[in-house]
Amino acid sequence: MSINTTGLHHVTAVGGEPQRNAEFYVRTLGLRLVKRTVNFDDPGSYHLYYGDESGKPGTLMTFFPRPDAPAGRRGTGQATTTSFSVPANSIGWWRDHLAETGVTTGRIANRDSEDVLTFDDPDGLQLALVAHPQGDPRDPWDNGHVPAEHAIRGLHSVTLSVAEEEPTAEMFGDLGLTFVGQDSNRLRFSAGAGGPGAIVDVLVTPGVARGLVSTGTVHHVAWRAPDEETQANWRAELVDAGVKVTSILDRQYFRSIYFREPGGTLLEVATDQPGFAIDEPLLELGRALKLPPWLEPDREQIERTLPKLNLPSENNPELV
Ligand code: ZN
Repeated sequence: MSINTTGLHHVTAVGGEPQRNAEFYVRTLGLRLVKRTVNFDDPGSYHLYYGDESGKPGTLMTFFPRPDAPAGRRGTGQATTTSFSVPANSIGWWRDHLAETGVTTGRIANRDSEDVLTFDDPDGLQLALVAHPQGDPRDPWDNGHVPAEHAIRGLHSVTLSVAEEEPTAEMFGDLGLTFVGQDSNRLRFSAGAGGPGAIVDVLVTPGVARGLVSTGTVHHVAWRAPDEETQANWRAELVDAGVKVTSILDRQYFRSIYFREPGGTLLEVATDQPGFAIDEPLLELGRALKLPPWLEPDREQIERTLPKLNLPSENNPELV
């Protein structure tokens, strides 16, 4: 296959209460809410996107907040940890910051010369902060809650838990990922030039029960395609290889296709363009509810259904 994704585009999880979700990702983790829209497949609920200043691919963590959904269960067939990249000397600052904000963390672990700090978000979603010894060249977003020198630079990696190693490893090979090493039952693959934002770890856990995707678990993991033409070519190749792939869906800020890796995790390939400034100015990202043209006629009803959501930084306009 000629598929060669350059890295992660976004990770999407199921969240709980949207206000609590926004408080945590904006205030505690210091990300920017770059889009406030609805789940296009379920317009009665939000789809919240967090990322860097402009929401560049590879910095994006997104949520379907479903306050009434049951708690999910972490397990095989899922992305079980989502990791963010922080500067090489910032892990200690983050441990203190998380403790001050009431977040319980594990001990700082050193894995493959990277420092790793693991914790859960308010809905039990497992996250990690990873400091890569060579650092991360991506620009920080400074929203006043986390100093720029320590700020998250974007996604570092995801960890998928699978019962069987080979089928998943084979599909990652088909997507253009390279096997870079193994530590016990953890296999590391990287895309493109590698480094933070281009890594997936596959944890082989045959004895662990299958996970259940609901609140506090990852819904899907998206990989980057540079443009629509390339995405269409990749889709055709996956179809030829017998993979069940959706049609190309218009997600307003990118185009998407979805398919499952053999271990069970839902994957997506999303285009880099057009991005989040397509329907509101860069300076105002995330402040207003944005709907795609086909849902605009239902705006009044949608706004009535959605719970209230105050952007945390709206209380501190000087920090925006
Ligand atoms: Zn997605």
